[in-house]
Amino acid sequence: MIDRCGRNIDYLRISVTDRCNLRCIYCMPEEGVQHVERSLILQEEEILRICRVMAELGIRKIKLTGGEPLVRPRMPLLVEKLKNMPGIEKVTLTTNGVLLKEQMRDFAQAGLDGLNISLDTMDKACSRRITRRDELGRTLEGIREAQGYPEISLKINCVPLGIPEQDLCQIALIARDHKVHVRFIEMMPIGFGAGLPCLSGPELLERFYRRWPQLQILGKKLPPFSIYEGEPLGNGPCHYYDVEGFSGKIGFISAVSHKFCGECNRIRLTSQGFLKTCLQYAAGRDLRAVIRNGGSDEEMKKVILEALAEKPDGHVFGGSLEKQKEDKTEKLCMAQIGG
Ligand code: SAM
Ligand code: SF4
Repeated sequence: MIDRCGRNIDYLRISVTDRCNLRCIYCMPEEGVQHVERSLILQEEEILRICRVMAELGIRKIKLTGGEPLVRPRMPLLVEKLKNMPGIEKVTLTTNGVLLKEQMRDFAQAGLDGLNISLDTMDKACSRRITRRDELGRTLEGIREAQGYPEISLKINCVPLGIPEQDLCQIALIARDHKVHVRFIEMMPIGFGAGLPCLSGPELLERFYRRWPQLQILGKKLPPFSIYEGEPLGNGPCHYYDVEGFSGKIGFISAVSHKFCGECNRIRLTSQGFLKTCLQYAAGRDLRAVIRNGGSDEEMKKVILEALAEKPDGHVFGGSLEKQKEDKTEKLCMAQIGG
């Protein structure tokens, strides 16, 4: 699907649930989480139907996310069905890893192509502060288990909050000791992330350079510090660096300091079946309504293309509140949208 800005949209991120077993400070409130009634969440058959129609329109890659996708039952089965769907080339998953150990073998058998595991710190007390739960041990077990399946590409995602307790170099060192790419994701001012401190990609790059002067890209030593010096892998928004002596790469996804909307290839489906064409805006179309009102596949395609025709050129993170209001900025938190 080519949108009005000439961007080829071939990537769909699906939030399969708004529920989660953690309460990360930048993503969910500590208490009083208002869960969506189960009957309003898309059923497996509904997700599959939307994906089939999307594949006919040109979607090739699907990422399953949440909330925490592994709290939803039958996830390996969903992966298997998506992997067998004509047109779909890649199915990947983003998880906090807490429930991964026990499900990893089933995901491998289902043909999962890739796993992103969120890990913001290796320090137990810091993890408790960020996630408001005591589950770091299980996340680390999940990562170890995933490393036993080299056919599934594994990436670690970390949001660098910039708090002194957060051991960011320690997280980066995972890429030295294992063939795993470690990516640092700038906090986006969405939901509970708005107003929280965060290090930008270039700030972090400078910090790492001071620690590892052998940080380089294509044989060129840094500085100057620009995440754009980094090399993309595939067509994702991450810019990667090599560090001599490291098995994996260090990556930066810097949506705020280095907007990449011009290369955006993605759309999102919330757990309630709302199709969002940009992370920042509330605009989109209700595909659950199309299905539950008895709409045909052709009708669904028409609605998807209508939404795509309105995909914004880009976000205005950091714009004035007035501007954001008039721009109909998203009010949902990341756990509801899918990150
Ligand atoms: N529960 C899963 C997990 O944590 O990986 C999947 C859903 S979570 C919403 C997906 C990703 O969004 C996580 O890597 C999380 O760190 C990130 N995230 C959540 N809120 C964010 C924010 N305000 N800015 C940037 N990333 C955020
Ligand atoms: Fe849950 Fe992921 Fe949000 Fe953390 S970032 S609260 S693990 S959905």
